[in-house]
Amino acid sequence: MARARDPIADLRRIAFLLERANEATYRVRAFRSAAKALAGMSAAELTERAGNGTLTELAGVGDVTARCVAESLAGEEPVYLRRLVATEGSDLDAEATALRAALRGDCHTHSDWSDGGSPIEEMALAAVELGHEYLVLTDHSPRLTVARGLTAERLRRQLDHVAQVNAALPEGFRILTGIEVDILADGSLDQDDDLLARLDVVVGSVHSGLKDERSKMTRRMLKAVANPHLDILGHVTGRMVSSRPAGVTGPGDRGHRARTRAESDFDADAVFAACAEHDTAVEINSRPERQDPPKRLIRRALEAGCRFAINTDAHAPGQLDWQRFGCERAALCGVPADRVINTWSAEQLVAWTHDRPPRR
Ligand SMILES: [Zn+2]
Ligand SMILES: [Zn+2]
Repeated sequence: MARARDPIADLRRIAFLLERANEATYRVRAFRSAAKALAGMSAAELTERAGNGTLTELAGVGDVTARCVAESLAGEEPVYLRRLVATEGSDLDAEATALRAALRGDCHTHSDWSDGGSPIEEMALAAVELGHEYLVLTDHSPRLTVARGLTAERLRRQLDHVAQVNAALPEGFRILTGIEVDILADGSLDQDDDLLARLDVVVGSVHSGLKDERSKMTRRMLKAVANPHLDILGHVTGRMVSSRPAGVTGPGDRGHRARTRAESDFDADAVFAACAEHDTAVEINSRPERQDPPKRLIRRALEAGCRFAINTDAHAPGQLDWQRFGCERAALCGVPADRVINTWSAEQLVAWTHDRPPRR
């Protein structure tokens, strides 16, 4: 007799794969409920009920889930699970790969001018090797002192420096100027307006007061999103799902290491509606410890009609290759390439940031 598998584990695995594939909630729930209904049952009773066909008499167990259980108990991988493993993964991989291939640049990166670990030149060369056509340099703004945020004076010097570096880089590639500007407590942006207007791309993020109450945080974000200088709303919820990966060091990392952080509380539908109205892109931050926004919010931003930017928020050259993580999550949520601003050429991107037409 074949050795029995764990039918509860198989049901949970199926639910997991359905969730990962962004399948309808009711389909997932069928497997989760069945797993829950059977979890406390002894192996003997489970086998007896599977044998005499009375599993479906239990609340939460249907024909499909009962069949899976019977197959598991017989030592076979349930047919449902086998099909899911054989089909879902490959389709999804193909979609994520296609999305990654469509990306022509990265709109959120840091150098050693703020809390990154490497000079601008090295970040640029790594981007060239990855096949990018452009890299937007977005070092921090003055208020983020722990990350050595750039004063107006230092940012002006950086702009001159970038112009020099660009002149020496291979043709067909360029560094675009930018900033990751702090969204201050009142929703204003932490840099001079004339400088923000000069930059190619402005990413704005909340880095302080992340536990502010819902209405306050919502007001703050709405005001920032409505600011015509803001092109991309960075790591929207501020969450940290795991400790920082090894090798990420710098003054800005102090206090963040080995710690998770809950999402900020704000009215996501209001913020995404404003992003759609003002044509401000929502960032899909690829950092493994951020994975921000969570998938349920990516789906809501998609429904709201928002554009996206799939960014690495790289603080080191190797991290520029993290875009695939963001692509995977975007693909899971059904984000099409034509909604992603970094599938555009540098010219298209800059034309958009400098002259974003309000979409009514
Ligand atoms: Zn940030
Ligand atoms: Zn950043």
